[in-house]
Amino acid sequence: MLQEVKTDIRLLSLTEIKEAFVKKGDKAFRGQQVYEWLWRKSCVDFDLMSNLNVETRNWLKENFAIHAIKVEDKQVSNDGTIKSGFRLHDGHLVEGVLIPADERMTACVSSQVGCSLTCKFCATGKMDRERNLTPGEIYDQVVLIKSWAMQHFQKPLTNIVFMGMGEPLLNYANVLKGIEMITSPEGLGMAADRITVSTAGIAKMIRKLADDEVRFNLALSLHAANDIKRNQIMPINESNNLKAVGESLKYFHQKTKKRVTFEYIAFKDFNEGIQDAKELLAFCKQFPAKVNVIEYNPTGDGQFEKADSNKIDQFCAYLERNGVVAKVRRSRGKDIDAACGQLANKKHSEALVTE
Ligand code: SAH
Repeated sequence: MLQEVKTDIRLLSLTEIKEAFVKKGDKAFRGQQVYEWLWRKSCVDFDLMSNLNVETRNWLKENFAIHAIKVEDKQVSNDGTIKSGFRLHDGHLVEGVLIPADERMTACVSSQVGCSLTCKFCATGKMDRERNLTPGEIYDQVVLIKSWAMQHFQKPLTNIVFMGMGEPLLNYANVLKGIEMITSPEGLGMAADRITVSTAGIAKMIRKLADDEVRFNLALSLHAANDIKRNQIMPINESNNLKAVGESLKYFHQKTKKRVTFEYIAFKDFNEGIQDAKELLAFCKQFPAKVNVIEYNPTGDGQFEKADSNKIDQFCAYLERNGVVAKVRRSRGKDIDAACGQLANKKHSEALVTE
């Protein structure tokens, strides 16, 4: 017999949940109680909603599901970084990471299963985009990673970056809804300015972020400030070139007054010379920006190599001398493939092959 597909209750708004209760002849405030369990108390099991009677809980179970994510496995890097595969209700897998640093506890979360952008240097780019994550699935990653910060480091989660699998701006509505619940007092109540959404550069959606007056931060994965080079490594640049992305960021800055971060992976003999730094400087001068130069993390394709550290230092020094803040970001969690661009369910795909 075909199993009936139940509605994921976390796709409903508070009003819709209340309406469902009223329709069944119950009081609206029951809906409020359920909503609190789902979001503020991050409860993923109707049976644990202890202030509801058995009849109500059974009615919820018969009519709805909670499509929570489950920790498939957890790996701890020798630098303390923790990575996990999260199993979604329909069997897909995504990955999330906790990155501990002195002051900060950062959660790196995924926004899609796979990715459609095929950036040449990124392991996720080699997977197909299977589907978008729901706001609840985004929320669950933060809840779980937050619990690891407490459990392993006795520290609260301080930052969230959307730098896991997927392109957040191609799952715009769900990412914004997820962030709304992460920041709302009805949810986790975290500060929006501790959240960074990273994009490969979808100009139209960057403008939409500005129009929606978002309060979180934006990072652009730039990696080359020259269209010919950027086209070679990021096919999205062909339809969203540097001029279009630059203009959208100018608009974003005008509307939100926020300083944009550029992520720039330094590739050996490709984008780490002084001419490249000059082009990057010109791009940065359009609006207040800062640059994070990222070490390339090998993804096993043999196509790229990590730049020499003295070249990276010279590159940053040039930017700094010319008034742009530029910091080198050393990779974390490389031994467990948890670093930027290494999230591709590797462990799981290997497991699938050998099974
Ligand atoms: N799609 C979004 C978010 C995911 S990527 C984006 O493109 O920004 C998160 C960051 O990891 C990006 O800056 C991305 O360019 C970087 N990254 C991808 N592959 C990498 C690799 N092999 N080494 C280092 N950084 C990488």
